[in-house]
Amino acid sequence: MGILEVQNVNKRFGGLQALDDVNLNVQENTVHAIIGPNGAGKSTLLNCFIGKLIPDTGTVMFDGKSLLGLKPHQINQAGVSRVFQTPEIFTDLSVIENTMIPAFARRDGAFKLHPFERISDEKDIRARAEEMLVNVGLGEKLDTVASAMSRGDKRRLEMAMCLVQQPKLLLLDEPTAGMARADTNNMIDLLKRLASEMDITFVVIEHDMHVVFSLADRISVLAQGHVIVEDEPGNIKGHPKVQEAYLGT
Ligand code: ADP
Ligand code: MG
Repeated sequence: MGILEVQNVNKRFGGLQALDDVNLNVQENTVHAIIGPNGAGKSTLLNCFIGKLIPDTGTVMFDGKSLLGLKPHQINQAGVSRVFQTPEIFTDLSVIENTMIPAFARRDGAFKLHPFERISDEKDIRARAEEMLVNVGLGEKLDTVASAMSRGDKRRLEMAMCLVQQPKLLLLDEPTAGMARADTNNMIDLLKRLASEMDITFVVIEHDMHVVFSLADRISVLAQGHVIVEDEPGNIKGHPKVQEAYLGT
């Protein structure tokens, strides 16, 4: 059984069938990419995983439990985090402060005020935040104000802000969108390293095939709301249906 199992998901916006009977089975501790041309339905599908949209029909199971009907924060508490489309960085705060906030939120869904517990917790949380910042390569920038960082470093910070919540499933929506080639390659290297070192399942949404090629264990290709092929990366690139989907738009 996969950690994320999607069965027969359909979603319609007025006359448009944005998701057409989508099936997906993501195995634990793998990197599973969902690729497809613009407008294929990738973001719509991802929004069905995080509670922003509810499918018209079908099921979405995470870790053996249905996610349908849960609120976004409940899904987050269950261990699903999304990166890169949520600009939740507090620009006036430092890198370490930014990273501590989601750790507190994950702990109890709010800021509790038990003075003694809070002090010891705060130390633990700071230590964990620091560890994650080192992990993403921001160990030297703990006290830098977020607004002063480059775009690439901001993405790393967002990554650390997610990792500190200790998610089981990390959803990445176009992790290299808008990045220059060098930053893109650095981000790919970082994701590869995290995927191999951490006990986390990654689902990467991407329209650029090349980005996910060296990263993914498994690729599902979405076109016009439907999964047209699911296979290992080696079998995806030259696949006639995939080429048709990309050239046809
Ligand atoms: P992708 O992320 O693969 O580029 P999307 O999931 O954003 O594609 O969109 C899939 C299709 O659904 C597109 O045709 C888009 O215009 C349409 N769509 C997405 N969200 C909405 C919405 N809230 N209302 C109406 N149409 C939408
Ligand atoms: Mg999208």
